[in-house]
Amino acid sequence: MTLDEQIQKLADMILGNRSAVVFTGAGISTDSGIPDYRTPGSGSWEKYDSSIVSIQGFLSDPTQYFNYALEMYPIRSSAKPNKAHLLVAKLEKEDLIKGVITQNVDGLHLEAGSSDVHELHGSLRRASCLQCGQIYSMDDIIQRVQKGENPPICEEFEGQPCQGLIKPTAVFFGEALPKVPWDSSVDKCKDTTLMIVVGSSLQVSPANSLPDVALKTGSELVIIDLMDTPFDSRATLLINERAVLVAELLEKKMGL
Ligand SMILES: [Zn+2]
Repeated sequence: MTLDEQIQKLADMILGNRSAVVFTGAGISTDSGIPDYRTPGSGSWEKYDSSIVSIQGFLSDPTQYFNYALEMYPIRSSAKPNKAHLLVAKLEKEDLIKGVITQNVDGLHLEAGSSDVHELHGSLRRASCLQCGQIYSMDDIIQRVQKGENPPICEEFEGQPCQGLIKPTAVFFGEALPKVPWDSSVDKCKDTTLMIVVGSSLQVSPANSLPDVALKTGSELVIIDLMDTPFDSRATLLINERAVLVAELLEKKMGL
């Protein structure tokens, strides 16, 4: 099948279902310049040990983590949603898909305008107090670190001083996945008749069990990724291309 035929088939499947769930991984954000924080070996990882994004490393030395977060902040805050994030948001607004489940912690789906977003691994755009659960924006937390408050400490909980440690909601190594997005994602996968995987090689457990949930309840599977995945043989349609290119061609094909 040519790429054009693959895009046509994808368009037909989306229009035929109108209830697809999109599942995204790091590959959708590489064209936004997002470094994959789970892949040591580039940039800041030469200076920092990857154990700082483990929960044990964070708890034993939060100051070091926030030094690292401060250094990465300009890269993260300048990253913008690309054509693929924007198309996912547009398809939801047009009532052609029913939400997006993501392994990414970059917050770009929400920034692109998607509203039904399930962030399986939390987010680096939000932080919470480990003591009382108070939510903070990372922009505010980074500002406080810049002013010398390192590590940043929770100010209050229901009017009382709290003093709890503040951590990004992104899941660190050694932490369990948060329950809410996981349960809602499983429900979504059970209900859907079409699951579209974008930019995930489906290697990370337990997120990679979600396509299994969808397939077992009779859903079709589409995979758009540059790499091979363990689910390729079970996919109705496989497109080995960059997410942004597929998005560009699909948008034209569907006349959106
Ligand atoms: Zn607190």
